[in-house]
Amino acid sequence: MIFALNTYIHLVIHLCSMKKIKGISRDTLRFILEVSRSSYPNEFAGLLQAEDGIITEVLILPGTEAGESSALLRLYMMPNLSTVGSVHSHPGGIIKPSNADLQMFGKTGNYHIIVGYPYDLQSWTCFNAEGEERELQIIDDQTDE
Ligand SMILES: [Zn+2]
Repeated sequence: MIFALNTYIHLVIHLCSMKKIKGISRDTLRFILEVSRSSYPNEFAGLLQAEDGIITEVLILPGTEAGESSALLRLYMMPNLSTVGSVHSHPGGIIKPSNADLQMFGKTGNYHIIVGYPYDLQSWTCFNAEGEERELQIIDDQTDE
C-alpha cells in the first residue's frame, strides 16, 4: 500500500510540478504550527496541497499523525487538490534541511516548509527542491472572491 501511495503521489506531482504557487493560506500555516506543537517532541510530516495556486491543505503522512488508510482516503477525497511539496517539523529547533530531507525534497515537489520549535509564526522557512531558501507569501483567507 505504501508503494501504491508513493506511486500515485509521484504521478500527481509530476503532472502539477510546473504550477506557479502564489503562497500559503494563513489558516494552513496556523494548522501546521498547531500540529507541530501537538506532535512535540515527535516530528510531524505532511504533503502540501494547493488549489488555484494557493497552499490550502496538508496531507498528513502515514506514520505521523494519521494512519496509512486515512491518508489514502483523504487523498482520493480531494481530486481538485495538487501536491506541490512537503512540510515537516524539527523538534530540535534548527531549521536546516538534513541530507535525508534533501532526498525527500527532490521527490515531492518544489515547496518544502520546515518548522522548528517553538513553532511560532517566525519559526519556519520554505526551501526549493535543492534545499535553497525560497520566499513563500502568507495569504490571508478571503471571505469572498
Ligand atoms: Zn528534517
